[in-house]
Amino acid sequence: MESIRDTYTLHNGVVMPKLGLGVWKTKDGDEVEHAVTSAIDAGYRLIDTASLYDNETGVGRAIAANSVDREELFITTKVWNTDQGYQSTLDAFDVSMNKLGLEYLDLYLIHWPAPSMGLHSETWRALEELYTSGHVRAIGVSNFQPHHIDELMTTATIAPMVNQVELHPYFQQRTAREYDDEHGIITQSWSPIGAGSGLLGESVLSQIGEAYGKSPAQVVIRWHLQHGLAVIPKSVHQQRIIENSNVFDFVISPEHMALIDGLETGERLGPDPDNVNF
Ligand code: NDP
Repeated sequence: MESIRDTYTLHNGVVMPKLGLGVWKTKDGDEVEHAVTSAIDAGYRLIDTASLYDNETGVGRAIAANSVDREELFITTKVWNTDQGYQSTLDAFDVSMNKLGLEYLDLYLIHWPAPSMGLHSETWRALEELYTSGHVRAIGVSNFQPHHIDELMTTATIAPMVNQVELHPYFQQRTAREYDDEHGIITQSWSPIGAGSGLLGESVLSQIGEAYGKSPAQVVIRWHLQHGLAVIPKSVHQQRIIENSNVFDFVISPEHMALIDGLETGERLGPDPDNVNF
C-alpha cells in the first residue's frame, strides 16, 4: 500500500521521500517551527529549506524539539547564488549547518545555475567534496536546464542526484524531465501546486477532485506522484499540511491525468534560469 513514507532511490542508493514540506516564505521563528512540527507529526520526513529562505534556524529548532530520529528525516538546503565558488560554498555550508544544528545534511543543492557567474564547476567541486567527506548524503542542482547539466558534467566527477525545478500543471518541464530520467536524476517539483497562481481554482481540478473525494491541491500533488516526480508543497497551516499529505489512498485515472496534462501553458510562474544572476 502506498504511504507518505514512500521514497525514490537516488542514483547513489540513498532513499528520498517522495513528498516533503517546502518552507519558502515561511517566517523564521514560530511560523516555521509550527509548520515543520505539524509536518513531522503528520508523517512528513522531508523538509526543503535554503539559506535564502532565512529560516534554517527555525527548521533546526523544530527538528531538535521533535522526538523522531534524525536518521528518519531528510533535510535539504541550498547554496545561494552569491555564495557560489569553491571556498565560499564550503563556508556557506558551515553557516547553514550551524543554523540547522545538524551534524550531517541529506541533500545539498546549487540553488540556481546563475550562468553569468561562471562558477558552476567550482561550486559543484565543493559539493563533491562535502559528499565524499560524508557531510552530505546526496548532492544535486536546482533550476538547471539540460544544457546547464551538460556543462556541469564536463568537469564533474559525480552526477547530480536530484534536480529541483519549477514544475506544476501550467509548466510541466517535459524536456527537463526526460533529460533527468535519461541521466538517472530525480526531478523534484517546486511550486508544485502553483504557488497561489490560480491553478487550484481551475474548474477541471475541482471536477476531478469530486470524482475521488479530494481537493484540487490533493489532485495536483497526486498528479506529480503519478508522473514519478518528487514534490514539496508549502503551507503554514496545519490543516493544509495534513490535507497535502493525504494523497496516497487514491489513483487518478489515465483520462483524468490527461486532462490535467492539458493545463500546460508553457509559461513559468518564476524566473527563467538562464536570466537569474542575482
Ligand atoms: P506551492 O506550489 O507549494 O504553493 C504554496 C501556496 O499554496 C501557499 O500560498 C500556500 O498557502 C498555498 N497552499 C498550500 N496548501 C494548500 C491547499 N491545500 N489548498 C490551498 N492552498 C494551499 O509554492 P512554493 O513556491 O512555496 O513551492 C513549494 C516549495 O518549493 C517552496 O516552499 C520551496 O521549499 C521550494 N521552492 C524552491 C525554489 C527553487 O528555486 N529551488 C523556488 C520556489 C520554491 P499557506 O501557506 O497560507 O497555506
